[in-house]
Amino acid sequence: MNEKVIEVENLNFSYPDKTIALRNMNFSVSRGESLAIIGPNGAGKSTLLLHLNGVLRGEGTVRVLGEKISKENLKRIREKVGMVFQDPNDQLFMPTVFDDVAFGPLNLCLEREEIEKRVDSILKELGLEGYGKKSPSHLSLGEKKKVSLATVLVLEPEILVLDEPTISLDPGTRRIFIDIFKDIKKTKLIATHDLDLVSQLCSKVVLMDKGTVIAEGSCRDILRNKKLLEDHSLEVPASLVLNGLKRQELKEKNRLSFSLWRKMTAR
Ligand code: ADP
Repeated sequence: MNEKVIEVENLNFSYPDKTIALRNMNFSVSRGESLAIIGPNGAGKSTLLLHLNGVLRGEGTVRVLGEKISKENLKRIREKVGMVFQDPNDQLFMPTVFDDVAFGPLNLCLEREEIEKRVDSILKELGLEGYGKKSPSHLSLGEKKKVSLATVLVLEPEILVLDEPTISLDPGTRRIFIDIFKDIKKTKLIATHDLDLVSQLCSKVVLMDKGTVIAEGSCRDILRNKKLLEDHSLEVPASLVLNGLKRQELKEKNRLSFSLWRKMTAR
């Protein structure tokens, strides 16, 4: 129990133009956990995610499923860590949806029959039945994001890494995605500004700013800390504000009916 599947220790990274993007980052993710990485624009969230499957290599240690990422194990690590990019256009490059989703399994040299079975099954699961022959470039943003997710899920990774999965989606499509993520019983690491999504999906939160961890804790503690969130250009999610107001309203109603009852019984 509580097996650490991702461990990041003293991670530092600067881009070639000398922008320091990560400063002594430390955190870990346990198996089965849904961890949110939150923080303002430019905090270093995307840079951090790109270290989890070795696209970027900083100074320090990144361990996935107990193995330190190195050139030798990169292919194996990438099979274990599925990364869904913020912009689906960075993930989709084939002429058809089928080809895009089949690309990963083809590279794993799976049998044609097995590939077709997996692709059909994942497209069906994500509500994309009949989309196989379509061109990804003709799809809506929500559909493209679903195909991006399919290209990753088809490889059956142990850990799912999502970069701003609900950004720019309309409310209805956003809810569909939240339900899809709820149904995926894998370890999830989600970098996002969507704190309502975090309150629905995640148990633990890491708040980062200027490339480093500012706070980490339970979703409940971090998302209710108005000052902490506002100090880092975030705000308490609307759903928690509403819940708080409802609780206050209920307390007020109870107080009023109690004082009415006292008045009536005092006579
Ligand atoms: P976030 O995902 O939290 O918005 P990023 O990881 O994208 O943050 O960016 C962290 C910092 O690194 C920012 O200051 C950003 O300007 C910088 N940065 C990101 N990509 C590059 C790049 N390719 N070259 C130089 N600086 C970059």
